[in-house]
Amino acid sequence: MTKKNYRRCVSCGLIAPKNHFCRVVRNFPDHKITLDQGMGRSAYICPNSECIAIAKKKKRLGRALRTMVSAEIYEELKTRC
Ligand SMILES: [Zn+2]
Repeated sequence: MTKKNYRRCVSCGLIAPKNHFCRVVRNFPDHKITLDQGMGRSAYICPNSECIAIAKKKKRLGRALRTMVSAEIYEELKTRC
């Protein structure tokens, strides 16, 4: 079995096929943050409010993407996941 399409949640560390997660992308080259689509550095997070809350509190997405992730992005994640 290949693990090529597996990803890790930035909050709880769960490793699962990437379609399990919400994808957050820091786009190239403008560094704009988008959800699900885009090209650039990506971070993955479980689609549940617990992981989103942890990520927000501990700034996990910002660390993974090496940029500022605004509160709006976390709010949008909550509505999408
Ligand atoms: Zn998680």
